Amino acid sequence: MPAYKAPLRDLDFVLNELIKVQDIIPTLPGYEDATQDIFASYLEAAAQFCENEIAPLNRSGDEEGCEFNAADHSVKTPAGFKQAYQQFCELGFTGLDCDPAYGGQGMPKTLAFPIMEMQCSANVAWSMYPGLSHGAYAAIHAHGTPEQKDTYLPHLVDGSWTGTMCLTEPHCGTDLGLLKTKAEPNGDGSYSITGTKIFISAGEHDMSDNIIHLVLARLPDAPKDVKGISLFIVPKFHADGSRNPVACGALEHKMGIKANATAVINLDNAKGYLIGEPNKGLSCMFTMMNAARLGCGMQGLGIGEASFQGALTYARERLQMRALAGAKFPEKAADPIIVHPDVRRMLLTQKAYTEAGRALTALLALQLDIEEKHPDADARQDAADLVALLTPVAKAFMTDNGFEAANMGVQVFGGHGFIREWGMEQLVRDCRISQLYEGTNGIQAIDLLGRKVLLDQGAKLRKFSKQIHKFCEANAGNAQLAEFVGPLSKLLKEIGETTMGIGMASMMDKDEAGAAATDFLRLIGHITYAWLWARMAEVAYSKLGGGDDAFYNAKITTARFYYAKLLPEVESLKAKIKTGAKPLMSLQDEHFAF
Ligand SMILES: Cc1cc2nc3c(=O)[nH]c(=O)nc-3n(C[C@H](O)[C@H](O)[C@H](O)COP(=O)(O)OP(=O)(O)OC[C@H]3O[C@@H](n4cnc5c(N)ncnc54)[C@H](O)[C@@H]3O)c2cc1C
Repeated sequence: MPAYKAPLRDLDFVLNELIKVQDIIPTLPGYEDATQDIFASYLEAAAQFCENEIAPLNRSGDEEGCEFNAADHSVKTPAGFKQAYQQFCELGFTGLDCDPAYGGQGMPKTLAFPIMEMQCSANVAWSMYPGLSHGAYAAIHAHGTPEQKDTYLPHLVDGSWTGTMCLTEPHCGTDLGLLKTKAEPNGDGSYSITGTKIFISAGEHDMSDNIIHLVLARLPDAPKDVKGISLFIVPKFHADGSRNPVACGALEHKMGIKANATAVINLDNAKGYLIGEPNKGLSCMFTMMNAARLGCGMQGLGIGEASFQGALTYARERLQMRALAGAKFPEKAADPIIVHPDVRRMLLTQKAYTEAGRALTALLALQLDIEEKHPDADARQDAADLVALLTPVAKAFMTDNGFEAANMGVQVFGGHGFIREWGMEQLVRDCRISQLYEGTNGIQAIDLLGRKVLLDQGAKLRKFSKQIHKFCEANAGNAQLAEFVGPLSKLLKEIGETTMGIGMASMMDKDEAGAAATDFLRLIGHITYAWLWARMAEVAYSKLGGGDDAFYNAKITTARFYYAKLLPEVESLKAKIKTGAKPLMSLQDEHFAF
């Protein structure tokens, strides 16, 4: 595999030419200093860090994995991980988009997200250590008392402490209403927490001085289901340096992200502190779920990019057979495989999904910044609605496409893709988890169709559709864009009809929505990417002749590829949705035989 190169040119295109973040970001209170120059210097520094420090540790980390010592419950991360983390802290990246009141740099998510993409491309297992900490920071920042914030946030911001999210238990993952971990009041404002959490990412390691676990547990008198879950801060070490009985009991042996410690965490009367209100723990967790789910989507994006870079380099170098229309490089023993249409299909699929995913990420990061900082309440609400609608789409569509891209990367390498030393198979293994955690992609689809679309009678979807409709209207007479605008408007209308059809059917039978959900999410993913590709083509046309025609022509050609070869998937999605729940539900449980 070639060395990873951060896609700085494409990030510049997406941030400054397509989404035009500079028209908005420096106008938001608190982001006045986040100018284009500042963005560029951070992106450059992050690119160097990712290319030179963590990318070289990706394969060795996978080979070495994390080591658990049962005698003292400690975990050793692979060689170089700790040093790279220290450097990351020294560069100030742990506090990049954190509150300056706690030592953060106060930069927007619009800047932080591309940096996260780079980390995911370079070394996704490493990226999860600071990633999980940021989740803990966000939850405490949003819901902690002033004292809790003063105690924990400065350390999470400077990276000397890291954080975890402890939700999952052996008998419950999706259905957190089943969780059993108990929290008994100690009478002094603290709680005694007992239970077992599994699959806890970055749950134990040697990279920081302390680990702050955010733990979901039940108070003694709590209601039974999700309404009875509270959130607690459970530090590994107390402020006086004494050890809290919260310890790693084992590490999971797993398919990918082997360099990230996935821990069983045993809490044995561990001292914890309630965060937020009693029984409101799940909603506290959910305030930072949007960012976490987008972070997960970025794992699909980042790995897709890394796989594309590997596949493209290989396809230019690997000589096999001749082009069908005759030798393209007669002086060579054979033509490079990039001449073959089937190889180009795979490379272009990787490229088209990755670049559209990058555009969607920038769009949503900007909405998160607007939602947080815009002075106008309507602007904040519009941004929040778009984020709510498109977060499950970004999480599931980007990770499904990232996995497909990583798989195609292996295919481009032929048998060599299956051999470990090339690094392509690791990308497939590392990407697979992104479709499972932070709510499986099936659950994202149910969230989109059930909560985000049907529950508000399509209000958020209509708002989003209006934006696409406006784009189509504005470009109705644009001959250059006609090949995109026509199919886009047609699809927009069809999605309206399809959504209505699902809504009607699910009034009669709730399984109809469950049956349609995954196909519906891909449908919304496709219209979103189709809209973004049309917009990218529009920008590219406007820039032709300015000195970078190769880049802009590639954008237009990739937009055409998307419309010609990937978007037609919507026809099969619509057809599958139309057939409803019956084909899924009519086989009796006992007739599923093997
Ligand atoms: C490597 C790794 C790291 C992780 N990191 C963390 C972490 O840091 N913190 C943490 O708390 N957890 C973590 N998890 C747990 C992860 O979030 C869960 O595994 C995930 O949410 C799914 O839960 P489950 O595994 O129990 O599957 P289940 O909930 O048992 O689901 C099994 C299948 O049933 C489907 N399903 C379930 N309910 C429904 C429904 N109502 N409708 C349709 N389909 C349904 C699911 O989509 C899935 O396909 C991690 C897991 C792994 C493997």
